Amino acid sequence: MHIYPDAKAVVRALAPDEPVICNRPQAAARAARFFAENFPGKSMYAVKANPSPELLQILWDSGITHFDVASIAEVRLVRGLLPEATLCFMHPVKTKSAIAEAYKVHGVRTFSLDTHDELAKIVEATEGAQDLNLLVRLRVSSEHSELSLAAKFGTDLIDAGSLLQATRQHCDALGICFHVGSQAMTPFAYVQALERVRVAIVEAAVTVDIIDVGGGFPSSYPGMEPPPLEDYFALIHRHFEALPISYSGELWAEPGRALCAEYSSMIVKVEKRRSDELYINDGAYGALFDAAHVAWRFPVRALEDDLTQPLEEFAFYGPTCDDADYMKGPFMLPADIQAGDFIEIGMLGAYGAAMKTRFNGFGVAEAVVVADEPMASLYTGERKDPRASDNVVSLR
Ligand SMILES: *Cc1c(COP(=O)(O)O)cnc(C)c1O
Repeated sequence: MHIYPDAKAVVRALAPDEPVICNRPQAAARAARFFAENFPGKSMYAVKANPSPELLQILWDSGITHFDVASIAEVRLVRGLLPEATLCFMHPVKTKSAIAEAYKVHGVRTFSLDTHDELAKIVEATEGAQDLNLLVRLRVSSEHSELSLAAKFGTDLIDAGSLLQATRQHCDALGICFHVGSQAMTPFAYVQALERVRVAIVEAAVTVDIIDVGGGFPSSYPGMEPPPLEDYFALIHRHFEALPISYSGELWAEPGRALCAEYSSMIVKVEKRRSDELYINDGAYGALFDAAHVAWRFPVRALEDDLTQPLEEFAFYGPTCDDADYMKGPFMLPADIQAGDFIEIGMLGAYGAAMKTRFNGFGVAEAVVVADEPMASLYTGERKDPRASDNVVSLR
């Protein structure tokens, strides 16, 4: 396979009229090794963040052996690629046929749930199996995260006791899982959630074997530079150790974004300029879904060498005919950028390429491999002083 030095080399070679995804296998491998070696428990990759087969193989080769899958299609995909992988079906609402196929055909033994109905469904679909790991999803606060996951799933504390007691009757190992929301900007998000877990365990008075702190581990974006992941791991470990669980209790996590954000960037072309708005060839229905729908800011750089003016704020329009195909940014680019120029948009490995649709006939993108560093990284060993950033809670 041809490896380009960087996005500029791709533009010189291809002058692409369609967007091009630039993948960095070395960056994904580095993230996977970091979690495999430093997280004080088991790291399973949340497949929804980016289900590309090449990425799944890289993560597996770099020490990630467990995968958080949320649909039967994800179960089949990962099982087809990685026959030895451990799959955990962590969507708390599943169809009976999906549970049955996952259990009987694909060897899945771990399921999450947040209601008595779902527990009954799992028991029925697995015909009362005795070898299940069942994790009760607890609703926790998303207040420290950029994207909330607090509204949809999770049992409230008031109901957790009876659900934990009932689930205990039907499993080999009992767990509690939660999700603090995506891009958690402080490790205290996990501390707070683990405090709620403690209350649930005490109230239920059952033996708990697995604590799964879910996803939410951050990556680095403009205006969202988190403290080092080591701080998250250390605080999670300390508060996990203090929980009243069984002696052989296990700690799990489900990182999505943190394992793959650095994997991909995208080259787009400016088709038109109107004042400080650039019309580019990818957008809300493509890899820039979050840039449009939750005003996520991704790092950008112009790929032309002849642009000389200082950086200025721009907004983007995507290629479809929909007004909602708009990304307010601001995206910082040279003031003299114009139609025909190319831009690289970074940190799109998570919830980027995975979101592409074919709406309006757009959405095709070639993928190439590049060798340079991602535009930002949490894995290069540089430690920012958390007090220097105004968007994090000080650890002191
Ligand atoms: C989306 C999701 C994840 C991954 O979340 P990130 O914020 O990308 O780390 C993990 N677990 C569950 C259950 C999810 O829904």
